[in-house]
Amino acid sequence: MPVAELRRRPDVSRLDWDELQAQVAGCTLCELHSSRTQTVFGVGNRAADWLVIGEAPGKDEDQQGEPFVGRAGQLLNAMLQAIGLQREQVYIANILKCRPPGNRDPQAEEALRCRPYLQRQLELLEPKAILAVGRISAQNLLQSNETIGRLRGRVHRFGSGGIPLVATYHPAYLLRNPAQKSKVWQDLKALHRLLNDA
Ligand code: URA
Repeated sequence: MPVAELRRRPDVSRLDWDELQAQVAGCTLCELHSSRTQTVFGVGNRAADWLVIGEAPGKDEDQQGEPFVGRAGQLLNAMLQAIGLQREQVYIANILKCRPPGNRDPQAEEALRCRPYLQRQLELLEPKAILAVGRISAQNLLQSNETIGRLRGRVHRFGSGGIPLVATYHPAYLLRNPAQKSKVWQDLKALHRLLNDA
């Protein structure tokens, strides 16, 4: 994206939660606005220790306006429960706030335009831990081209605050490859241990 265009993105750095949500709801910064049913801002406890970041809304999420409500969402809930966390205790957001048509991968430019919204969510939430689910989320957050297989299995540090970040497989991938569930379990436990030992 040209620098001049980047500067035209609205300054959301001082908005509170409700103002930010309203700004996202009216966003037309990329073409996804023309095909969405509604934006999917994020959901959960706005004082949560854990921030879960997925890729982008799918069909169910686009219809219901909430992240991770479809089959992958049910598995995500079960993954969280396995380490003693209820969905309502964490905050859940996505790299993109609008559904890419046909569930195609988000484009780099869409992620760039959407980024200030997630950035502000991070500033408002100040999470103690970030769980990046799936390749797209992990690559975007870590500014990396590595595969999810290489990005998972260790604790990264995110942003100037050095927030512990663990990347793991996306629940939609786990639905197709249940044999990988044990690796997700290891990733979740690593982040959980880090928080509880702190
Ligand atoms: N997959 C995601 O990454 N996010 C959602 O909200 C739903 C499915």
